[in-house]
Amino acid sequence: MTRSVTVVGTLVAGVSPESGDDLAKVIDFLRAYRDAKQYVIDKIWDRRADLPSLEKLHHEFYEELRKLGFRAHHVKEILKSARELVKAMHEKEKKGEDVSKPELRRLTARLDIYDIKIDFERRTVRLPLLNGESVTLKLRVYEGRVRKFEGWKFYNCVLRFCCGKLFLHIMFRKVVKLGKPKTVLAVDPNFRNFTVAIMNRKGRILRIKRYENPLPRALTLRIWAERIQKRYPKSWRFSKNILAVVRKFHRRSRNVLRTNLHKVAKMIVELADKHNSIIVLEKLDGLKRKEENGSYSFRKSMTFFAYRTFQEFVEYKAKERGIPVTRVSPRGTSSRCPRCGKRRRKYEGRILKCRCGFAGDRDVVACINLVRKYLSRCARVRGHGRTGTNPSSEGHVSQADESMRVKVNNS
Ligand SMILES: [Zn+2]
Repeated sequence: MTRSVTVVGTLVAGVSPESGDDLAKVIDFLRAYRDAKQYVIDKIWDRRADLPSLEKLHHEFYEELRKLGFRAHHVKEILKSARELVKAMHEKEKKGEDVSKPELRRLTARLDIYDIKIDFERRTVRLPLLNGESVTLKLRVYEGRVRKFEGWKFYNCVLRFCCGKLFLHIMFRKVVKLGKPKTVLAVDPNFRNFTVAIMNRKGRILRIKRYENPLPRALTLRIWAERIQKRYPKSWRFSKNILAVVRKFHRRSRNVLRTNLHKVAKMIVELADKHNSIIVLEKLDGLKRKEENGSYSFRKSMTFFAYRTFQEFVEYKAKERGIPVTRVSPRGTSSRCPRCGKRRRKYEGRILKCRCGFAGDRDVVACINLVRKYLSRCARVRGHGRTGTNPSSEGHVSQADESMRVKVNNS
């Protein structure tokens, strides 16, 4: 019995027509598509509580839309996407939200994947338009992005006109078998770095690694931006130059954070892959607590944002490789002695010193405790299966105790 998951990914590619004439044709098509979709929405909006099936819509609109010059494939997608949108709005309405009939503005069109021809080798797209016409577009995308989706299944495609340019969102999916992990990898984030510990199922440490957290750098950039805003509290919004500088710092801050969180997440997932590990992350409600001296109001929210983004990256990248990810509450993980399990703790700098003689780095201790919490949860699940009782429920594993005496070093 192997579990599997479906991973989805989107390749966003710029597409450029060979001539201005072709571009005009594509835009005409997108306008007609949008207007047709709006027309369908207008017609079915009042019937949203008892939405007609796709088949019924087909009977109702097919001839009409075909007369406007659309291909059968176009009609199918127009009806499908109009129906989905109305259905989604109705779902919101049922939840008590205020909804009004959608007014489409953007020039986007979902295309039938069996109709559009994408040639990744030659980087071309043949796009069928109105009245039997079609254009060939050049696909602009990095080699690496294309290679990433080799072996994936192409399942959806959206053409979009935005800021004077055409884009194709090509969506892929792939079914990945979840591996059977032999080791456990836990990540403890703090303001300066991410500490990673890999342990086997008996609780022995196999590897400890540290990665720099880009948060301080991103925060510094953000603080510069806020400082400028504070210095010119009234004018920064209106002065072109100040606004440009403020925006630049905000943008850089975001980029530093995202790019580096991606890198760290990638390295950690690769490490988990190499060691055949399950990844244990902290539950996020505990992460808010981690912020100790919130001297800036945004510091807290940015820290939370960074951890959430990091976890999303890790989860996605792990899923792609079939690596399971689980979450454990971080409560008490940095204060409990991994050897004797006592909560009484004393810190010398970042070193935890326990009365039992144990001494270890705070972040590593937190990682170990995360792994143990996870292992004890596994043991509990197994125990339930066998005896139906639950002898020790607190995050403490006796079998892991012996090997816990390995010296915990700062790597
Ligand atoms: Zn102790």
